[in-house]
Amino acid sequence: MGWGDDLLYIHKCEQQRQGKTVRPTRKTRPRQLSALWKNISWIDTQGELDIDELEHTNNKWARAYHLNNYTPTPPQTQILKQSDYNLAQHIQSKHKEYTLICPDVKETHHDVNKTWYHWQDLCNILSQRGHNIVRLTHREHSKRYKNATDYVTANIRQSLAVVDRANLVITTDGFWHHASAYTKTDCVTIYGSCTSDKDLGYSEQANITTRDEHSPCYTIHKKCNKCVENMWNIRAKQVIDEIVNRGWG
Ligand SMILES: [Zn+2]
Repeated sequence: MGWGDDLLYIHKCEQQRQGKTVRPTRKTRPRQLSALWKNISWIDTQGELDIDELEHTNNKWARAYHLNNYTPTPPQTQILKQSDYNLAQHIQSKHKEYTLICPDVKETHHDVNKTWYHWQDLCNILSQRGHNIVRLTHREHSKRYKNATDYVTANIRQSLAVVDRANLVITTDGFWHHASAYTKTDCVTIYGSCTSDKDLGYSEQANITTRDEHSPCYTIHKKCNKCVENMWNIRAKQVIDEIVNRGWG
């Protein structure tokens, strides 16, 4: 599934592996190794202990956060090597300090409901307030944001290192907010009503969640007009207020 899931999987293994090497499985079948696990010596296709990335309860496989009473916990394991910081160092040589924005959600139906619409407004205000705004891309995007500088990332570990060195991360729910929790980087996470910080959030982050009658909606595979409307109604000013109130810039 996603990089966020792969990050949380490391924590699950930390809890269960009892010193053994781990062979990752998905519904009991061996799964491909994530690029996030590349530097972790105890996760391997030849591992001694199978640990499934999903939970098996009531004869169903599910993500842990779809079960009750789940709180995401970032892993403790060192994931990055010095060479993973090449891009982060390059960005720091250009800007010294920077705010990372993550406007690019995966292009699945689910993520339509997690898309936020006011990134350009946000960039304009952040820029006025003196932020150096950075955005990571995998390839040349047609859409660009005025007042933000794009950098092409080579892989997910380079991206994680850029999060680590950022002063502030602003994102919707996904890999980036889990990554910020891992690197202890200040983060504003915009949930709207599709998902919720109650299941997926971190108390130290600024969580912007719309609590209406159908939140958390978790509508997947199709557009939910109410979630889209709720996302539209979260304006850039609300994000800025969170940043200012917390003294984050
Ligand atoms: Zn909805």
